[in-house]
Amino acid sequence: MTRIGIDLGGTTVKAGLFTEEGQLLSKTEFPTARENGRTGLLSDIASHVWTMVLEQGVPLSDCAAGIGVPGPVEEGGYTEAIPNLGIRDCYMGRELSALLDIPVRILNDANAAAFGEYWTGAGRGSRSMICVTLGTGVGAGIVLNGEIVGGAHGLGGELGHVFVNPDETERCGCGATGCLDQVASANGVARYAKKLYDLPYPTAKDVCDAAKAGDALAEKTLRYCMSFLGKALCMVGYTVDPELVVIGGGLSKAGPYLLDIIYDSYKDLPKLTTKRMQFKLATLGNDAGITGAARYAVK
Ligand SMILES: [Zn+2]
Repeated sequence: MTRIGIDLGGTTVKAGLFTEEGQLLSKTEFPTARENGRTGLLSDIASHVWTMVLEQGVPLSDCAAGIGVPGPVEEGGYTEAIPNLGIRDCYMGRELSALLDIPVRILNDANAAAFGEYWTGAGRGSRSMICVTLGTGVGAGIVLNGEIVGGAHGLGGELGHVFVNPDETERCGCGATGCLDQVASANGVARYAKKLYDLPYPTAKDVCDAAKAGDALAEKTLRYCMSFLGKALCMVGYTVDPELVVIGGGLSKAGPYLLDIIYDSYKDLPKLTTKRMQFKLATLGNDAGITGAARYAVK
């Protein structure tokens, strides 16, 4: 069985063709065709996938596909809403399956990224892990005993919207106030550098670069923002206790320096045991989503 992994984003769609074992054979990327609604978008995805598979000389009938989407996906593949794409109330996996005439399974995009890291990335060989993606927002996915934890309502691993910060004054995109997403994401780091110390760094990368170069206030900002992630990861430890924490996303490009700050913010919190979750940087970069979707394609 050849696997197709699709990562549906707000601006681009990525798709990859993988062997049964997870070797990437081919990939393609194209703009998200939002103008013709859900039907137009799915037709466009189907035609790009069809072309990619044809070019590799693989019979489409030997393939199964997985698609990661930027919103909660319930058990059974139902999607209540993907606000970014203006999509509501549907079974997109089934619709794409009908277009391609192959099995298609659907999951949340952060869960797909986590499953990718688990399959062929930083989590390879582990039994349980959480992958946290620090990008524009905070995404996360949990793998337990080799299965992604999607949850009964599609909220499994949605760590970005746990309440962590009672001092937050602004409202999160989800409608709540004080979400992890608001403080530990790249946007959050940049916002708090301004808010806490009025630092002249417009992006999280600038804050990280300055901190590495010795700017004490930039480092304080990072430690402040990541302290909330440390607390959230301690809660994850007390709920599902994975062996491994994988940190990915744009912010993780700050490398071991940032990983150490995150680990420091977590390591002294649990008191019931001296054992600690292991921390690693993600290794698949932008391919994590297509890789995990491809893994999810076949149960
Ligand atoms: Zn939120």
